[in-house]
Amino acid sequence: MTTASRTNLLNLTPAEAESALRAFAESHGVPAYRGSQASRHLWGTAPAATFEDMTDLPKSFRALVAEHFELPRLALAAEQTSSDGTRKFLFTMHDGQAIETVAIPDGDRLTFCVSSQAGCALQCSFCATGAMGFARNLTVHEIAGQVRELAMLSPPLFATNIVFMGMGEPLMNWASVDKTLTILNDPKGFGIGARHITVSTVGWLPGIEALGARKEQFRLAISIHAPTDALRATLMPVNTKFPLAVVIDAAAAFDRRVTFEYVMLGGVNDTPAIASELAGLARRCKAFVNLIPLHPGGAMGFAPTTRENIGAFARQLRVHGVEVAIRKSRGTDIAAACGQLRVERLERRRPVAAN
Ligand code: SAH
Repeated sequence: MTTASRTNLLNLTPAEAESALRAFAESHGVPAYRGSQASRHLWGTAPAATFEDMTDLPKSFRALVAEHFELPRLALAAEQTSSDGTRKFLFTMHDGQAIETVAIPDGDRLTFCVSSQAGCALQCSFCATGAMGFARNLTVHEIAGQVRELAMLSPPLFATNIVFMGMGEPLMNWASVDKTLTILNDPKGFGIGARHITVSTVGWLPGIEALGARKEQFRLAISIHAPTDALRATLMPVNTKFPLAVVIDAAAAFDRRVTFEYVMLGGVNDTPAIASELAGLARRCKAFVNLIPLHPGGAMGFAPTTRENIGAFARQLRVHGVEVAIRKSRGTDIAAACGQLRVERLERRRPVAAN
């Protein structure tokens, strides 16, 4: 049997993989429970690197499974650790495309920021990933595989929370993200609670509806960044396709808590008048607002809003009854914002010292 025709078990949900392996076992005269046993090695806290490592299975069955199925790896090409404990990983895939994953510790939480596409088509003006353009969608195993690879490090890293805030627009790759959400949440996958998994989007309408249709309580974050179409269109070209009114309606219709992501751009979207307009939108969809300090490095021509002005902007939102948090900027010494490590590696910008 050729490599090309082997089934990639990591592109399947845990239930699909288990039934494929059970059927395979039975068709080869092996008891079906051996298939279930093999399926338990795919994800979780001790994922198997190879079929050979599934040592509770008979050697002959391991060899047979390896002929018909595959467990592809992502290659770890670079790693950086920030002085604040944030770790950033660059993975390369079979075709040489590179993606980033960031692990962010905060108290007893460990949040993984995962990528859903290699590059991004949306060209938001302040974003490093947008500047590199779109290469391709990631497959299921390339998204869930980021979490799997970190669970295979020694010592391993286990996520308590997942945010789809790495490279790419997750809702433009819904088919793969949909299945990945199942793998992350399923007790036979990684068993991470749906409320601890957040999908962040520019406001890609069909995807918001698809996410809302899932029965699990996955969280939705929308990158708003400006409360008027005129301003938002200058920052986010996608606003022409899905203007604010449409995005806000979808957010209001989403039956779970929604977060607005709002990157603070000095002198651009951070005035008191703009805060009042933003408050109006947030109140309409009962959204929680996350103010994000602009991450230096990827920020093409923009200046961060001062800490004082971020504080004033937050107070203004609170006066209008909006819940707001100021996101801590993490990993600034390792270029940990969206797309920055890949840009640094591939375009040979001067590396930022991790002091
Ligand atoms: N495409 C999705 C998810 C990826 S980006 C989305 O846009 O929501 C995750 C968040 O990081 C988005 O809110 C994005 O606007 C923000 N971001 C991108 N570049 C940034 C930078 N240089 N500083 C701060 N936030 C940035």
